[in-house]
Amino acid sequence: MPNVYEKLGVPTIINASGPATRLSGSIMPAEVAEAMKEASQYCVDIAVLQAHASQYLAQVTGAEAGYVTSGAAAGLLLGTAACITGLDPTKMNRLPDTRGMKNQVIMARSHRNFYDHAVRSAGVELVEVGIADRYSGAGVRDTEPWEIEAAINERTAAVCYVAYTHSLPSLAEVVAVAHRAGVPVIVDAAGQLPPAANLKRFIAEGADLVAFSGGKAIRGPQSSGILCGRRELIQAAALQHLDLDIYFAQWNPPPSLIDKSRLPGAPHHGIGRPCKVGKEEIVGLLTALRLFVEEDPQARRSRWLQLMEALAAAIGETPHAQLSLANDAKRTEIPILALQLDEEALGFSALDLVKRLQDGTPGIHANPSRVSEGVVLFGPMCLKEGEPEIVGKRVRQLLKG
Ligand SMILES: *Cc1c(COP(=O)(O)O)cnc(C)c1O
Repeated sequence: MPNVYEKLGVPTIINASGPATRLSGSIMPAEVAEAMKEASQYCVDIAVLQAHASQYLAQVTGAEAGYVTSGAAAGLLLGTAACITGLDPTKMNRLPDTRGMKNQVIMARSHRNFYDHAVRSAGVELVEVGIADRYSGAGVRDTEPWEIEAAINERTAAVCYVAYTHSLPSLAEVVAVAHRAGVPVIVDAAGQLPPAANLKRFIAEGADLVAFSGGKAIRGPQSSGILCGRRELIQAAALQHLDLDIYFAQWNPPPSLIDKSRLPGAPHHGIGRPCKVGKEEIVGLLTALRLFVEEDPQARRSRWLQLMEALAAAIGETPHAQLSLANDAKRTEIPILALQLDEEALGFSALDLVKRLQDGTPGIHANPSRVSEGVVLFGPMCLKEGEPEIVGKRVRQLLKG
């Protein structure tokens, strides 16, 4: 029986890199796919479903409330919009025109990344502060908390913080200066799982809103994500996301998500309406998150480690390439296999190898982030059983020329 992609004539690929939107995200556990299929066979009031999700997300993250988004990037857009408008429906209706509103978001220059387009989409100006001297190699310093504090003014809607283990200043320091001025902090924690403890960590460190991807390590639907944080901000985000084609008198949102009594009227469809979330994604995300939280971290790690060990064994010893498996739990959450090429002896580069893997049949996708050092990386998160052997065989062939 041809699979659904074969019927479409679309080739499937082997993802030996890791969850990436470009490569269609992760592979959902069967239980998640089943839950989505079942969800698709009924209709519900989407706000009631989101209110239920909110309570579960609050419990899992330690936040006051949560919301299912169509991804972490959507969470950043909705979170930024919430920080700009608060609960004012007039302001909501005007976005992304933010004239006269709080329309600046402060970001350490070293935190800038392609995804901050989602923050800017709400209609704000990004105010970059500090200089990332340690990245240029010219020095040791990065943005410092006082520089963020100095940039705060009456137009500041939020400070956006991108969470990586190497991010500076620390989130606690950023929260301290922002909160001193009454400014909320939005954390982009899209890829910061595992460890599962990070679901609670950024909220515990004082973040007002945190955005996670649902389609990375959680293995939920590719177009899902989590926004969690302060109840009032989640309410403002929900109001700019939910479909509001309804008479105010008829509208009966769950009070745990939206306190109707605080609103003069309902806003129009908001700036978040284009990133809508279906019942299938909400149910899928909740199911995947439950499985993620329940899975023993050691078991998850050894599942990944086995895939990487199988790949290393399948590549085996070759004269002009060296394998090393990074598996120190203190340094890396995810076991990663690195293949260091002797580019000169081979007569081709690490990027050439990545491209040749990708151009074969089936296409095999490796992680190119260290090709400038002659290294090709492999990650386990989207590999299926049996695939390490296929990848290993192809790598061997290509290395033999
Ligand atoms: C993946 C990622 C995003 C986007 O996440 P989606 O869930 O795909 O929207 C945002 N920020 C960072 C740092 C990421 O790694």
